[in-house]
Amino acid sequence: MIKANKPTLKSWVEVPDDSDFPIQNLPFGIYTINDQHPRVCIAIGEHIADLYVLAEHGFFEDLGIEKEVFENHYLNDFIALGKAKTSGVRNRLSEILDNDLEEWDASELASFFLKLQAEVKMLMPVKVGDYTDFYSSREHATNVGTMFRDPENALLPNWLHLPVGYHGRASSIVVSGTPIQRPVGQQMPAGAEKPIFGPSKLLDFELEMGFVVGRDTDLGQSVSTAEAEDYIFGMVIFNDWSARDIQKWEYVPLGPFLAKNFASTISPWVVTMDALDAFREEGPMQDPEVLPYLKYEGKKNYNINLEVGIQGENMEAAHTVCRSNFKHMYWNMSQQLAHHTVTGCNINVGDICASGTISGPTPDSYGSMLEISWRGTKPVAMPDGSERKFLLDGDTVIMKAYCERDGIRIGFGEASGKILPAKS
Ligand code: CA
Repeated sequence: MIKANKPTLKSWVEVPDDSDFPIQNLPFGIYTINDQHPRVCIAIGEHIADLYVLAEHGFFEDLGIEKEVFENHYLNDFIALGKAKTSGVRNRLSEILDNDLEEWDASELASFFLKLQAEVKMLMPVKVGDYTDFYSSREHATNVGTMFRDPENALLPNWLHLPVGYHGRASSIVVSGTPIQRPVGQQMPAGAEKPIFGPSKLLDFELEMGFVVGRDTDLGQSVSTAEAEDYIFGMVIFNDWSARDIQKWEYVPLGPFLAKNFASTISPWVVTMDALDAFREEGPMQDPEVLPYLKYEGKKNYNINLEVGIQGENMEAAHTVCRSNFKHMYWNMSQQLAHHTVTGCNINVGDICASGTISGPTPDSYGSMLEISWRGTKPVAMPDGSERKFLLDGDTVIMKAYCERDGIRIGFGEASGKILPAKS
């Protein structure tokens, strides 16, 4: 077992029972306070720990890490140090925050490197050079295929043979809390003879998880399923905002373009694969048998509970519209990365690959309004008396993700965004 994951560890920093950030998690992020230079931090309970301050005091000296890497706009330079060093930093934090710590005075330590999360601003954790979106939930692909094509042949012929994906837009990936402006664009309403132009009326979310690439490859190099985990640093929650009416008209024959490029939202904390190690699960049986380069060994799926809430402008709290789980994915991250690079396509630290909408087998686990409202035919009743087929201006969509076992909860925080009206 990874040392920092030990279930019996407890921190001298108070961690509420329902916190996403016990000492076994220690996810990495970038924060700023009072517009100071952004720095690398980790989350512990309701606090962040400033790694630059710890580095200044020599806590990472024996790991051979210069303090400058922690005064940074992004995690990329830190991640690029490699897993031996980044895991070493996580282990060191685990030692520093462990309540068995005797030789240091906790309260004295706390005052110099801990800050309340409520008092700091979390920024984009990584500089995303390239972003790829997969389509790896069988339930989601089946639902979409059933709605738009043929229930008898819901999956297209390639789907069970390769992890379908497309290259997305990295520049518009934003951190949780960033408002999302409703996009405008061309749409072809049913029965119309020519396209119209205006705000999207069918704005949607897609519940996804994304993995952050932790190691560069050279052009021409491919990463096997067996090597893939060495190239994955950690994971974030990922909302692939989607304008269904724009998508429906534009997507033939090359796939999503403007329906997706206006924004995607991620959570500010990158949860390491080390922290998620205890939550591995067997993936679904893959039948037909996959080609050799997509075969894999071991448990490559992860049991991560997922939730989506919508909070309308007049609502006091979010209303949960979906509960799903990352374990439902048909294609796992190692297969996605092997497929992505099999051509020799190079990847870089900070690249993000998103999973595709994570729908489960039951209607309450569908990961988009398209599926939840079944193309708008089954509106969702909201607690304030309103209903939703798709998202309204003023709605805040809040996605949460957490693993839980033996009383240990490894959470991701949230990825939220409020819909602002289209620009006039
Ligand atoms: Ca998607």
